[in-house]
Amino acid sequence: MNDTPPLVHGHDGWNILDGLLEGCMIIDRDWRYVYLNDAAARHGHVEKGSLIGHTMLEKYPGVEGSGIFAMYKKCMEGRTAGHEEMSYTFPDGSVEWYEFSVNPIPEGIFVLSVDITERKRAEEGARLSREKFTAAFNASPDLMAITGVSDGKILEVNESYSRMLGYSRDESVGKTTAELSIWADAADRERFVAVLEKDGQVIDFETMLRRKDGTTVMVTDSARVFDLQGEKCIFSTAHDITDRKRAERELRLFRSLLDSSSDGIEVMDPNTLGFVDVNEAECRELGYSRGELLSMHATDIDSGMDEERRSSIDAQVRKAGKAKFETEHRRKDGTIFPVEINVTLVELDKPYILSVVRDITERKAEEKMLRESAEELKKYKMAVEAASDNIILTDREGVVLYVNKNTSSLTGYAKEEILGKTASVWGGQMPKEFYEGMWKTLGEEKKPFSAEVVNRRKDGRLYDAEIHISPVLDESGEVRYFIGVERDITKAKEIDTAKSEFISLASHQMRTPLTAINWYSEMLIGGDAGELNAKQKEYFEAIYGASQQMNEIIKTFLHILRLETGSVAMNPVPVDLGEMVRLTVEESKLPIDKKRLRMREQVQEALPPLKIDSELVRVVLQNLISNAVKYTPDDGEVAISVENAARGSVIAGKTAEEDSILVSVRDTGIGIPEADRDKIFTKFFRAGNAKTWDPNGNGLGLYMANRMIHTAKGTLWFASEEGRGTTFYALLPREEL
Ligand code: ADP
Repeated sequence: MNDTPPLVHGHDGWNILDGLLEGCMIIDRDWRYVYLNDAAARHGHVEKGSLIGHTMLEKYPGVEGSGIFAMYKKCMEGRTAGHEEMSYTFPDGSVEWYEFSVNPIPEGIFVLSVDITERKRAEEGARLSREKFTAAFNASPDLMAITGVSDGKILEVNESYSRMLGYSRDESVGKTTAELSIWADAADRERFVAVLEKDGQVIDFETMLRRKDGTTVMVTDSARVFDLQGEKCIFSTAHDITDRKRAERELRLFRSLLDSSSDGIEVMDPNTLGFVDVNEAECRELGYSRGELLSMHATDIDSGMDEERRSSIDAQVRKAGKAKFETEHRRKDGTIFPVEINVTLVELDKPYILSVVRDITERKAEEKMLRESAEELKKYKMAVEAASDNIILTDREGVVLYVNKNTSSLTGYAKEEILGKTASVWGGQMPKEFYEGMWKTLGEEKKPFSAEVVNRRKDGRLYDAEIHISPVLDESGEVRYFIGVERDITKAKEIDTAKSEFISLASHQMRTPLTAINWYSEMLIGGDAGELNAKQKEYFEAIYGASQQMNEIIKTFLHILRLETGSVAMNPVPVDLGEMVRLTVEESKLPIDKKRLRMREQVQEALPPLKIDSELVRVVLQNLISNAVKYTPDDGEVAISVENAARGSVIAGKTAEEDSILVSVRDTGIGIPEADRDKIFTKFFRAGNAKTWDPNGNGLGLYMANRMIHTAKGTLWFASEEGRGTTFYALLPREEL
């Protein structure tokens, strides 16, 4: 089959191709290798000589099925050129890439081969890394996007971006972020593009992005400008910080909660009891800064606990997870205060002790006060309960809320029989008007009320009682309670009566011998038993004077007895007051003369004779005039006047309520000290200056005169200036007399 003479080996015309980098090979029409240069031998991994003169089929059996043979064949038979890149796997497994160009030549075909393995490898590497990059781009949890700077159009987005914002890649690419309204605050985008364009730096910022569905997501965005085939683009990576933001917000909220708590809060390591955190209140309370406390331990501020108690609390916390106890804390300045601590064991990244510390100084003080006042109250209750007077507490309707023991024993009613009812259970014996008056004073005027009453025991026996009732008002001045004190005065009254009877008896008994003394001394002085010498006369006159005085005292006693027992018998007779005054002055002639007092008597003319108990007028006049004489120094003046006082006329501040007679006795004496004025009419009372002035006196005269005038429905009062003088006024209504 090889009748065609082979091409001359090393044909000069082809030898020029030997130095080329491209492989050159000539295969004749019989598929016999006619020529190949060095590069072609290299490409084929063969020795030149081993191929020349051999056919392809002979050298590479099975080549007919290969792609390269098909190309050669097409050119050999069809006489058309071919061009193809092909990989070639060598028996040793190595793969190389070639670019083959086949051209028909008269001898057969001419094959030109260029080694493109290097290029192919680079291309493959690029492809692989692009795939890797894309995978990474899409696998990143961050939102990534590439946008053009000039037109703001999105060039690429990753899957996270699509997933997070809800725009698929196709919906995003080619649009601007503005068109998609991705920026919740459009100004943000402008600002950041401006910054990027200006200095081309990487910038980091926080912004809010809007999803396709309108919801938003908070991100930190990191962007940089880079050059993509001559065009400036922005590569941005955004990280969803919604969770972080929420956590931060929660932390801030928690912190502000902690700090706004008025209780101190401490977080401690359960093993060392070292402070891990403390809130503001605790710092404030203890006087340490947070920094100082964080280097301290619970034991440094606790001063109220010994080791034993601490370990027992520790055991409790470990067992139950919490404990509550009281102890004392020491401030930085050394002061100590009581606290109540609530401890909880909490598991966070590891276990912590959370202590809520409450300052209980006030509570402790209150507790102490309460304890003390409870004791105080107990004392009062005991005192009230044990009092020998009846003590009764009622509400404002008079319903009994409390009675003490004595009330039961006196009235004979058990407490249960009284409580919830009114005091009329044992009271109610007085006339209706009495109780009306009482309620008027207590309920309307809201003033205390005192009186003597007759009450009735459960067994029916009556008893005398002295009652004092006081309203207890609330803040708005309304009656809240009434407190009544009731004293059984039956005994006292009996004793009083016995005393009075005794005095009455004694006085009457003394009168007879006294009359005898009076009478006989009068006779002796009168010379009935013969002439007396001067000395004798003087002595008898003294005896006579003393017995007169005694007589007056006895009369006073009897008057008072009668006044107090209410057995005064008024015996009004026409009385000439002018005459009465003259007579009374006459009785005091001795001291008047002795002191050289000027006496003025002024009796209104044409004063009709007054119908009055003459003894009463005598006693009153006698007391007022003798006091005026007694308490006025030598050379003083005493003025007595008697005049009409028509109804409505005003005398020394008092108004006559009806037509009356006014008797006034004015002196220039020692006066009545201001402090003593309200007691002047009390039994036995004598003012301090009077006692020094004249030790003789019993303080009964004014008491008696006052009561007498009251009995006659009149009024007795006075005006006085200490050291200057006193005027007593007696106003006696005519009608009543
Ligand atoms: P006494 O026996 O002390 O005079 P009275 O009852 O008559 O008792 O008077 C009571 C007190 O009133 C006197 O002790 C005195 O302090 C005062 N008193 C009464 N009248 C006068 C007066 N005219 N001037 C000064 N003090 C008077």
